[in-house]
Amino acid sequence: MNSSLQNFKESPVNKDIKQNKLSHSLLLISPDNYALENYAKYLVMSLMCLGIDKPCGECSECKKILHGNNVDVLYYPQKDAKSLNSAEISDLIDNAFSAPYEADKKIFVIRNANGIDASMQNKLLKTLEEPPHNTYFILLATMDNNILPTIKSRCRIVRVPAISLDEIKQELIHKGVDEGTAKLALKYCDNNCDLALKYATNPNFAQNVAMVEDLLKNFRKSWQMLDYSAKLYKLNENFEDIIEIFLSVCSRAVALLCGKKIDDNVARNVAENFSVDALVNLVKGCNTLIEKRKRNCNYNSIVDSFLFMILEVRHKWPI
Ligand SMILES: [Zn+2]
Repeated sequence: MNSSLQNFKESPVNKDIKQNKLSHSLLLISPDNYALENYAKYLVMSLMCLGIDKPCGECSECKKILHGNNVDVLYYPQKDAKSLNSAEISDLIDNAFSAPYEADKKIFVIRNANGIDASMQNKLLKTLEEPPHNTYFILLATMDNNILPTIKSRCRIVRVPAISLDEIKQELIHKGVDEGTAKLALKYCDNNCDLALKYATNPNFAQNVAMVEDLLKNFRKSWQMLDYSAKLYKLNENFEDIIEIFLSVCSRAVALLCGKKIDDNVARNVAENFSVDALVNLVKGCNTLIEKRKRNCNYNSIVDSFLFMILEVRHKWPI
């Protein structure tokens, strides 16, 4: 049994399922979509399971869910690409008031809940407030800041635990990732399986890591700006990944400087060359750049700001 299933079996949520007193509306939160989907799968299995050690994974109901063919478990949207629109919310609400087909309950898993706009959330709220008999709503969110307080107050909020690195590694190998790439992806994924999969399946991942390591180690003087900006201008498609990897190293360097024991040579080198204040300001600045990037600001000017910021923090908050 993998560790996430073991953890779920021992969780307060599963205890409440066994005692038949689970809230009918739940909001699951994790930055890792893989962890969310995985937890929702165990939750749905446990609610439907006919066995004693729920979720048993062996009974007919568990097997149907594992094979994605339980007609009383509905996913909105079916693929996790985007958030629900008005027509889909109406369909969901209508569906919630019809009886289950086979089981004695119906479960709705609502993906990307934090992407649903406020008026659509209000539309959903009424159903969450007075859920139809034996109907469960499981909302998945990668962050909770877009979820209406009224929705949150109707739901039991579950902070989904991160997937262990061992389990993420198994998943990467299962997806055909080679050992070397898996090892590198694990180093930069911050226990986020979705991120690890994204990194490990990007052919430019090793090159992006090398770029970040080079920047943090060797970029120190303004006369180097031209050289580094020329390199980064060519990496437009990879900029999000580069910034995420950069943030991951900076965060670990901060943790090292705060006394945490981390076995990571790159982060240690950064911790020796930047002060805590410099790193904290770098992280803040990178988050602003990510926002600018989302708003389609000019790429070259984002690169210039990024490089200037690295020089500036070294100067403003020296060691
Ligand atoms: Zn079962």
